[in-house]
Amino acid sequence: MQQTFLETLNTSDHEQLQFLRDAELGLFAIVAIHDSHAGPAFGGIRRCAYTHLADGLRDVLRLSEAMTDKCALAGIPGGGAKAVLLDRPEFDADAAYRLLGRYVENLGGRWYCGPDVGTGTRELEILAKETRFVTVPGPDGPGDLADATARGVLAGLEAVAAEFTSTSRAQADLGALSYAIQGLGEVGGILARELRARGARVVGSDVDDDRLANAIDRFGVEPCASEEILGAGCDVFVPCALGGILHDLSIERMRFRAICGSANNILATEEHGDQLAQRGVLVAPDYLVNSGALILGAAFHLFGSRDSAAAIDRIGDELLELFARAKGERIAPTRLAGQIARERRAAARSLAVGPFFPHEAELRNDLDGGREIEP
Ligand code: NAD
Repeated sequence: MQQTFLETLNTSDHEQLQFLRDAELGLFAIVAIHDSHAGPAFGGIRRCAYTHLADGLRDVLRLSEAMTDKCALAGIPGGGAKAVLLDRPEFDADAAYRLLGRYVENLGGRWYCGPDVGTGTRELEILAKETRFVTVPGPDGPGDLADATARGVLAGLEAVAAEFTSTSRAQADLGALSYAIQGLGEVGGILARELRARGARVVGSDVDDDRLANAIDRFGVEPCASEEILGAGCDVFVPCALGGILHDLSIERMRFRAICGSANNILATEEHGDQLAQRGVLVAPDYLVNSGALILGAAFHLFGSRDSAAAIDRIGDELLELFARAKGERIAPTRLAGQIARERRAAARSLAVGPFFPHEAELRNDLDGGREIEP
């Protein structure tokens, strides 16, 4: 049964939750900072036509928490945040993004925002007029985020292929397996291109006919109706469209040996990961394999680096280690990943003075007349 709005609020452990409203602009946004004990929070802005405010609240809480897990698994000194922007007919989007940009700037670097569903390069450029704390892809920013994400998923797919053939990642042959890609957008399109270039059979679906036609013409993807993709006879399912797709009904229908893609929160619940493992399906935790863009963006903002290729490629090795440990401990890899993320979150909490407030050191110094004070 769905929780009520207040129940959802009561069961969350988020540090900060704010509602931003501007009636004239039609702006209604919810910003959630989940956990900043390890460092500044990272997370995109999702713009979506939620039917109920409670749906937006659930989404922002779930997605921001997943960002904390993503940082913990990727070893990034940061935490998770997210914003949802309720898309409404009366919405003055450009003005609303500018106001949101001012809000982000005023947090002073406590939250680095970025792209998500409905917030692309155009909207990020609007935000960048008001704030320094935004990840705008391209040459002035860290580079191409979808490329980085696809690179991480490919590293994950190499780990899957290595696991199937009991070889190393370097020897794994991606071309020997077949793939069903759900969603041929930015990330799914790059994966289709790369897998076809390695000689693999790729079946693909997209609700957008132009994107599907493009993948057929340019990369030789075999088309599949969206509602049929779960039944496609392929080795690996590569979800690159929506979350919540692995649930009671869908896992009964699918016949894949492995699942590894970029979509966030693919498991409806952690138990569905257990059920898939019991059926012998290898599931790569989404927040491990889709962390390429986060790794790239965080390295850019925190260390001024634009080259994160090696760090992103390590996702494949980490996945192989996770598979091995999960086998040894007789536990689903998705559950083990959750346990590791929670352990790391607890460790960051125990080491930190508290949540990350960017101007705190400066302020403490001012208040104390410039003398060092104990934390
Ligand atoms: P995108 O919007 O470019 O592509 C998504 C594609 O999925 C679109 O072409 C859309 O038409 C299609 N789609 C939607 N519903 C579908 C359905 N039911 N069946 C088939 N296709 C459907 O998004 P993207 O940037 O490629 O990201 C894909 C997924 O990966 C998203 O879930 C996103 O949250 C996640 N992700 C992306 C990044 C990134 O760097 N872009 C990073 C981490 C996670």
